[in-house]
Amino acid sequence: MERRQLITGLAGLTALGLSPLARAAATSQIATLAAKVQPKVVAWRRDVHEHPELGNHEVRTAALVATELRRLGLEVQEKIAFTGVIGVLKGGKPGPAVALRADMDGLPVLEKTGLAFASKATGEYDGKTVPITHACGHDAHVAMLLGAAEVLTALKSDIAGSVVFIFQPAEEGPPPGEKGGAELMVAEGVIETYKIKSIFGLHVWPMETGKLYWRPKGFMAAADRVEIRLTGKQTHGAQPWNGVDITALASDIVGAVNQIAARQIDVTTEATVLSITTMQGGVRFNIIPEEFKLGGTLRTFSEARRADVHARVTKTVQALAEAYGAKAEVEFVLSAPLTYNDPKLAVDIAPTLARAAGGTDKIEPNTSAITGAEDFSQFQKKVPGVFAFLGAAWPGKKPGESPPNHSPYFDIYEPALEVGVRAHAEAALFLLGWKA
Ligand SMILES: [Zn+2]
Ligand SMILES: [Zn+2]
Repeated sequence: MERRQLITGLAGLTALGLSPLARAAATSQIATLAAKVQPKVVAWRRDVHEHPELGNHEVRTAALVATELRRLGLEVQEKIAFTGVIGVLKGGKPGPAVALRADMDGLPVLEKTGLAFASKATGEYDGKTVPITHACGHDAHVAMLLGAAEVLTALKSDIAGSVVFIFQPAEEGPPPGEKGGAELMVAEGVIETYKIKSIFGLHVWPMETGKLYWRPKGFMAAADRVEIRLTGKQTHGAQPWNGVDITALASDIVGAVNQIAARQIDVTTEATVLSITTMQGGVRFNIIPEEFKLGGTLRTFSEARRADVHARVTKTVQALAEAYGAKAEVEFVLSAPLTYNDPKLAVDIAPTLARAAGGTDKIEPNTSAITGAEDFSQFQKKVPGVFAFLGAAWPGKKPGESPPNHSPYFDIYEPALEVGVRAHAEAALFLLGWKA
């Protein structure tokens, strides 16, 4: 009798989607389904890898995604933010809508991996014909999210709510002069249209294969493009005193600005990187030019630090320009906001991602901040979310030995994709309130 009551009680909890037994059963189903879909995930990854497309031009990739999502019976919308695709899986029970996101674009890089399915594709970038490669692993992201869509579709009747699969164009930035990426998807109302309550995203990274890495709060940096425009007084190179030596000023600015993150800011509390990367000025060896341009990038992990560095750079440049008798304009253009993992979700999701990865030793929930940037942050500005890295280095490689993202040699270890599929599927159930 007691036993019967217990069983009835558990069944009641299962109906509410709260039973730990049912949740564990879901995990085991996810694992079985992810293993079953893995050959397809690998095939999708190789197909997309061999046919990469640049941001806002992911036409073939988007068509493949839309076809696969329709095959699963999802509601599909295409041409969002140029080539974005969204598929909606409506669960068998009522509940909120949560999103999983993959990016689809390749990079203007010449592939040197020597893979049998290496890219031979070319495209147009900034008026030039360029080679294209999936050097950031977005081919893997597309394949894993399609795999997760297939897994979650099989669990449809048990899902309380909807899962919105977002296939996003142009994460690496739209072509010059165009809009695109997550910012444009958000501007087109994706969050409101699909009533998305929270979001999860994954990025392959050359770290321990099959391990998941993330941290609460600032995970990937806010990226600002820095532009410094100098105006002096042109003169003969042999008579600098008759003008304003703007070349010397530019050189002093590089030295002084590089000191800011190194000497004026406590970088032990928060990573801060400021790099001047371009210097443009002058046409001839014996003319000191009238104008000079400097460009660079700033990476910060909080709004306060970002504002502080902006003020310090502006002050330093203006003071030096004044000393030389030149004019200076300093501009910061935000290219990606801070990838900010919701503090509560990022902690609460740990057991879920441990299940996906196969143990608590397979997750690193408080990993170091990454100075790279991600436009997933645009979604996180609207709704709470978690962004994580999936280690996909070839086994046997020591840390730092694997070619980094954006390298012409970048490659992933495909068995890691199965962990990614599980992570997406598990994260969706977690965000829907089905806690581990
Ligand atoms: Zn990238
Ligand atoms: Zn990327």
